[in-house]
Amino acid sequence: MRDRDDERRRIAVLEKAVENTNEAFVTIDSHHQVIFFNKAAEKIFGFKREEVVGRDLNVIMAPSCNRNHRDAVARYLKTGVLHRIGHDTEIMATRKNGEIFPANISFSVSEFEGVIYFTGIVRDLTETKALHERIARSERLAALGQAVAEITHEIKNPLMMIGGFARQLSREMINDKAISKLTIIMKEVTRLENLLNELRDLYLPKTLDKKEIDINALLGEVYELVRGDCESKNLHVMFSPDSEKIVVTGDREKLKQVLLNLAKNAGEATMPGGKISLSTSRKGRKVEIAVADEGSGIDDEQKEKIFDPFFTTKKGGTGLGLSVSKCIVEDHPESTLTFESQKEKGTIFKITMPVTETNEGNKGGLP
Ligand code: ADP
Ligand code: MG
Repeated sequence: MRDRDDERRRIAVLEKAVENTNEAFVTIDSHHQVIFFNKAAEKIFGFKREEVVGRDLNVIMAPSCNRNHRDAVARYLKTGVLHRIGHDTEIMATRKNGEIFPANISFSVSEFEGVIYFTGIVRDLTETKALHERIARSERLAALGQAVAEITHEIKNPLMMIGGFARQLSREMINDKAISKLTIIMKEVTRLENLLNELRDLYLPKTLDKKEIDINALLGEVYELVRGDCESKNLHVMFSPDSEKIVVTGDREKLKQVLLNLAKNAGEATMPGGKISLSTSRKGRKVEIAVADEGSGIDDEQKEKIFDPFFTTKKGGTGLGLSVSKCIVEDHPESTLTFESQKEKGTIFKITMPVTETNEGNKGGLP
C-alpha cells in the first residue's frame, strides 16, 4: 500500500515537473500519434494541446523534417538503435504561424506494456542565439576599437593641417580654378573628419551622460530639425507624440543623434511626395519611439547586414549611422533598436526603452 502511494506520488511529481518545465515535451507512439504535449510545447509551437494530441505528428512538423523523422523512427523500430538518442541536435523548427526558429532537440525512448514511445525535448534557441550574436558583435567591436583608435588618432592631425592650409590658401588665391580645387579639398577634409568622428563614436568606449528625458520633447526637437530639410525635398513629416508625457533615463545628446540618423535614413529612402512619421507610444512599462517611412524598403538579403559597420547601399554613404545608433541604444539598459521593412512599402525603426516613473509625468499606468 505504502509502495503504491510512493509510486503515485513519484508519478504525480514527475508529471507536474514535465508539465511546468521550459522545455517542450512532445511524446509520440510508434505510429507517430502525439500522446503528450506539455505547456511549453504549446508556447513554443503555438498549437493548443487539443489541436495536436491524438493526431499525427505531421500537424506540427515541416514536411522535410517529418520525412527524416519517420525514417529515424522506422530505423529504430527495426534495429533498436536510435542514433540521435542522448545527443542534442540543432534544427530549424516551425511555429503554427509559419515562423521558423532555431531549436535544440534531444530524444528519449521509453517502453510501456510492449509499446514504444518517443519523446522529443525541444528548447527554443531564438533568444540564446540572439544573445550569442550580441556577445560576438561586441567582442568584434572591442578588437576593432583599439586599431581604430590608433588609426583615427594618426589621421586626425595631418587632416586638420590639410584643411587649415587649404582654407588659408583659398583666401590668398585669385585664380578661380585653383579656388574651386581648394574648395573640393576642404569639403572632402570635412567629410573625412565627420567619418573619423563617427568611427570614434562607434569604437571608443563611451560613458553615457544619463538624465531624465521628456521623450516627446526630444522627438519634437528632432522633428523641427529635419522638417526643413525634408520639406525642401517635398517629403511630408508627421509628428505624433503619445498624449501623455513620457520620461526615460538616458543620454539626451546621443539619443538625439540616433533619432537624427534614423530620420535622415528615412528621408534618403523616400521619394518626393512620400511621408515620414515620428511617433512615441507607451507600451506598459516601455516606450516605443518609431521613425517610419514609405520609402524603398530593405531587401531580405540586406536585412541581416544593415547594422554592420560600413554596410551601405548609398553612393557616398559611410554605413556607420545604424551601427553607431544600435550601440548607443543598446548601451542603455533594457533598450533595443529594431526594424521592420517591406520592399517598396517602407520601413519602420523602433527604439524601445523602459519608462522612468516620475511623480508628475507618466500617468499611463501599468500594463
Ligand atoms: P548610410 O546611411 O551611410 O548608408 P546607415 O548605417 O545609416 O549608413 O544605413 C545602412 C544602410 O541601411 C543604408 O545604406 C540603407 O541601405 C539601409 N537603410 C537604412 N535605413 C533605411 C530606411 N529607412 N529605408 C531603407 N533602407 C535603409
Ligand atoms: Mg545613414
